[in-house]
Amino acid sequence: MTRTITILGATGSVGASTLDLVRRNRDMFRVVALTANGNAAMLGELAREFGAEVAVVADEGCLPALREALSGSGIEAAGGAAAVVDAAARGADITMAAIVGCAGLAPTMAAIECGKAVALANKEALVSAGEVMTAAVKRTGATLLPVDSEHNAIFQCLAGNDPAHVHAITLTASGGPFREWEMERIHRATPAEAVKHPTWSMGAKISVDSATMMNKGLEFIEAYHLFPVGVERLRIVIHPQSIVHSMVEYRDGSTLAQLGPSDMRVPIASALAWPARMNTPCAPLDLAAIGSLSFFKPDEERFPATRVAREAVIAGGAAPAVLNAANEIAVAAFLAGQIAFTRIVQSAEDVLARGVPRPPVTLEEVIAVDREARIRAAEMMETVS
Ligand code: NAD
Ligand code: MG
Repeated sequence: MTRTITILGATGSVGASTLDLVRRNRDMFRVVALTANGNAAMLGELAREFGAEVAVVADEGCLPALREALSGSGIEAAGGAAAVVDAAARGADITMAAIVGCAGLAPTMAAIECGKAVALANKEALVSAGEVMTAAVKRTGATLLPVDSEHNAIFQCLAGNDPAHVHAITLTASGGPFREWEMERIHRATPAEAVKHPTWSMGAKISVDSATMMNKGLEFIEAYHLFPVGVERLRIVIHPQSIVHSMVEYRDGSTLAQLGPSDMRVPIASALAWPARMNTPCAPLDLAAIGSLSFFKPDEERFPATRVAREAVIAGGAAPAVLNAANEIAVAAFLAGQIAFTRIVQSAEDVLARGVPRPPVTLEEVIAVDREARIRAAEMMETVS
């Protein structure tokens, strides 16, 4: 059976892995929409290759280049943030939400409103919108399929089990490239060092988040919304090999874990084919060759991000949206060489300490919280540097 698919963030790392699977399983999918921020040439090429109905650049200035790239193809071209939302609202059977950051929130919500399947990679959208997104999923009957490797692992380990019997959920974390570094060296870490992840190949923003451990903090909040077992039942363990992708412990002492190579095509394939399975080019693990797996307690002295995120989710309301926005601004400033590595999490904590607006209850209110927190984060960064 052929299903229609839309990929939001088609030119990114998750977008490329998704399209690789579509390319290898042509008979399973028909592409409706592909979107990108500004890379019109690449987007145009992909839209032609996959015979998309429409291609959209969020940056309207890139629309002429997209039109040129698509000329004579019969593929529609559109530009602007609202056009990305419109593309998501076309209601493909499955939409891959793979835009980075809160910029992906409105399009992801538009896809959810269609009540079909939404494969969620864009964790910042769920972190920011929290209950607003989960309520929309309930109301519309949409199926939210986690793509983040940890959450996809948990989703698989929960299948067929009654969540009432869950004792705890443990997210694994690689610990990032600075796991064994002294504090002083972490403080002086450069963008080039931060984006060099030991086990995964990913976009720049999530790579920096992995280095600060804010990625695990955001994932903790993501897990809180996807698997409502309560904060006290959510754990984090460091596992440098990234082979065990996460675990669910049950009241009888059983722990179910999902293992696999550290290749995003595995969790993406699980989401795209759910509840069936599809082929990927990834070979199953050779555990004898891997030899040993190790696990450690996280060190929140050197990596405070998971503590800051846990505090934000416990505070609830707008706090996670403020945290996410402040972190996005700080990561961009770090990548631009404007602030030290250790300032990233510190500045997110500082913005949160300035106070949090009242809990947002609509998408528009979440977007307003995000916008204001970004402004405040940028202002506070100027006063410090
Ligand atoms: P990336 O930077 O490689 O790609 C991001 C995509 O979003 C690109 O297509 C880009 O054009 C688009 N985009 C950026 N800004 C935009 C804007 N303002 N409006 C519209 N589109 C915009 O990022 P990625 O690594 O593929 O990550 C995408 C999402 O998936 C993130 O939320 C990330 O946390 C999550 N994720 C990624 C991985 C991974 O292995 N890369 C793993 C788990 C989760
Ligand atoms: Mg992850």
